Amino acid sequence: MKKHLLFLGPPGAGKGTQASLISELYDYLHLSTGELLRKEVEKQTTLGIQIKEIINSGKLVDDELVLEIVKQNLLLSKGGWILDGYPRNMSQADSLTKVLNELNQPLEKVFYLNVEEEILVKRLINRGRTDDNEKTIRIRLNIYKETTKPLIAYFQNLNVLEYIDGDRDLKIISDDIKQKMA
Ligand code: AMP
Repeated sequence: MKKHLLFLGPPGAGKGTQASLISELYDYLHLSTGELLRKEVEKQTTLGIQIKEIINSGKLVDDELVLEIVKQNLLLSKGGWILDGYPRNMSQADSLTKVLNELNQPLEKVFYLNVEEEILVKRLINRGRTDDNEKTIRIRLNIYKETTKPLIAYFQNLNVLEYIDGDRDLKIISDDIKQKMA
């Protein structure tokens, strides 16, 4: 059973939902950079206020800051983990590869959840987070296409990529993922 996993895909593809389901089932750590950043925002620290502005603009938070969050959490993890929403650009992917080498915990599978753009927009608008308004959604989708999508090829080269059709029933998707984790 694979235990070092990563979920890649556009905003609204269901990465968070699937990562929650799978991590609960196998008792893995669910490491969502979006969730961890939102937690920092809730604390209303100076850093939290800066992060909030970036999240609400739809742009990406500073690479170094996110790397620090990821490192700290991976260091605490003893068993399996699922990275959700990280990496989001080539520099983050390189940093992650380095950190995982140092920790001797190589990535075993990357699940690429794919969903068509217009379906994503509808899903996100219905979700209703503060960054789920149409303007911010379009910005996030463009950043995804320009900076995150190229990571599909990066992970393909590492021979860890699994394609998942994300436009299906939630349970069918998680069954598909479970099967591909074996
Ligand atoms: P998410 O919950 O994954 O949709 O992330 C929400 C927001 O948090 C994103 O739009 C970014 O502003 C920020 N964020 C999450 N993960 C990252 C990351 N890996 N790098 C930079 N910013 C991130």
